[in-house]
Amino acid sequence: MKTLDALGKNWIFLLDRAAIYTLPLGILFGMFMVFTQTLPWKTCVLGVLGVSFTLSVVHQVCLYHFVKCPTCGWNLTIFKDGKKIQPKFLYNAFSAGKPCLNCGWVPGEPPTNNEEQHSQDND
Ligand SMILES: [Zn+2]
Repeated sequence: MKTLDALGKNWIFLLDRAAIYTLPLGILFGMFMVFTQTLPWKTCVLGVLGVSFTLSVVHQVCLYHFVKCPTCGWNLTIFKDGKKIQPKFLYNAFSAGKPCLNCGWVPGEPPTNNEEQHSQDND
């Protein structure tokens, strides 16, 4: 994910993976819980669906609100006409490192705007 790497936002992609994997893993976990009679099956089903749903909603919100071009501030997840780009295509574009639709910034290059970029490490 060149673009997310450049923006330090790989966690958004991890959120996407988490939302996807919660379902099968949660079902396995739920089956185990039901089998060992730790939890009733309704609780497991609701829990798994709830967590997976919540994660995917959080992922969508973060994806469409936090991925911005560091040079011009353009939202990299929408087309020029303002329509949202589907996550599948977005992640293709992100891993290919597609340039910003608005200003042409390419992930991996320093923002070309002005002197705002300081390389200080205050750990
Ligand atoms: Zn831009």
